[in-house]
Amino acid sequence: MSLTLSPQQLKEAAEGFGTPLYVYHAEKIKEQYEKLLHAFQDADTRFFYAAKALTNISILKYIRSIGCNVDCSSFNEVQLALKAGFAPNQILYTSNNISFDEIKNAKEAGVHINIDSISNLEKFGNAYGNSYPVGIRLRPNIMAGGNLKIATGHSDSKFGIPIEDIELILKLQQETKLHIRTLHIHTGSEIKDVSIFVQGIDLLLDLVKHFSQLEVIDLGGGFKVPYKKNETGTDMHELGKRVQEKFEHFEKETGRHLQVWFEPGKFLVSEAGYLITKVNVLKQSGDILFAGVDSGLNHLIRPMFYDAWHEIENISNPDGVLKKYNVVGNICETDTFAEARLLPEVSEGDFLAIKNAGAYGFEMASNYNSRYKPAEVLFLDDVPNLIRRRDNMEDLTKNQIEFLNL
Ligand code: PLP
Repeated sequence: MSLTLSPQQLKEAAEGFGTPLYVYHAEKIKEQYEKLLHAFQDADTRFFYAAKALTNISILKYIRSIGCNVDCSSFNEVQLALKAGFAPNQILYTSNNISFDEIKNAKEAGVHINIDSISNLEKFGNAYGNSYPVGIRLRPNIMAGGNLKIATGHSDSKFGIPIEDIELILKLQQETKLHIRTLHIHTGSEIKDVSIFVQGIDLLLDLVKHFSQLEVIDLGGGFKVPYKKNETGTDMHELGKRVQEKFEHFEKETGRHLQVWFEPGKFLVSEAGYLITKVNVLKQSGDILFAGVDSGLNHLIRPMFYDAWHEIENISNPDGVLKKYNVVGNICETDTFAEARLLPEVSEGDFLAIKNAGAYGFEMASNYNSRYKPAEVLFLDDVPNLIRRRDNMEDLTKNQIEFLNL
């Protein structure tokens, strides 16, 4: 039985803190982390939470408190991680297409770094030579899943150094004495197929012979979590077993021990998060019954951006008669959360809980239409704690400079 918050707990949070409201469940995050530890118990692994999924500082502190490391996608995220109390060696910085200045800052902060372009690798080698170990992010030309918007390892992807450039990397290693400690790939998100990870492992293990100082293979994130009822995620036990077998075999053959790193984002926080919205308006139009809620693509863009499916529950009337609704937002764009979705009968004023919203939910929120970003609440030991207040009018205007005295 997986941990969830009850409709009653979610309803009370909505009544207490107002809507729209993001609600997270600390123990669910812990449960997910423990699943990883269990699945990979026979392999030498380290997990770095991909903070980009949800960077609220209280979430980062909680993640640190359960023993997980953190992966950052900008130097600002590195600074947040330091503020949350992570030690530099618990922080990994995997970015793409950034200026060398950010990499210099990360080096000065003493964190692990994965570099994703030949140009920055060359600058790094020239500046630091063998004095600071570094990782390289490769683009392995592996197509993961079917959704191009979340696949990052295929041959047209902007991410990583194309594997075809391996000779260039080796030349740089030789000329600048780069200390290459890590080979990294991240082929995308929601990868259910374990063989995609295995393909990546085979490809990277084949390259190890070129790097005498290599200690780590970093396979990125991308574990699939179930979004629909009856859907299954990545089989973590199968993956754990395959990883253990591959690396054990490699060690026997070559005498080289390698540590495996992963950067799970969604796996740790997605199912722990809910977006609670209130139904403002019911509108019948021909056969379609719209439930218009007090949120929109400004708060959860995944359904509109990625065609993502999120389960929705009517927590005000969980046992009502099922009817079909188009659940839509209040933004001046077509912001449909769900089409022709069967929900227990909805009335104006009801609270709808959009599930699986912990990853890339609040984090991708904006103030479009000059609407406020939601508040965030973290349940810990069944107690709801406010971890971000709702925006107010001052937040909308604080960076603006009025220069016309009209
Ligand atoms: N690592 C890197 C480099 C990423 O770009 C991402 C996501 O974009 C992740 C890890 C986390 O992916 P997921 O949330 O699917 O686990």
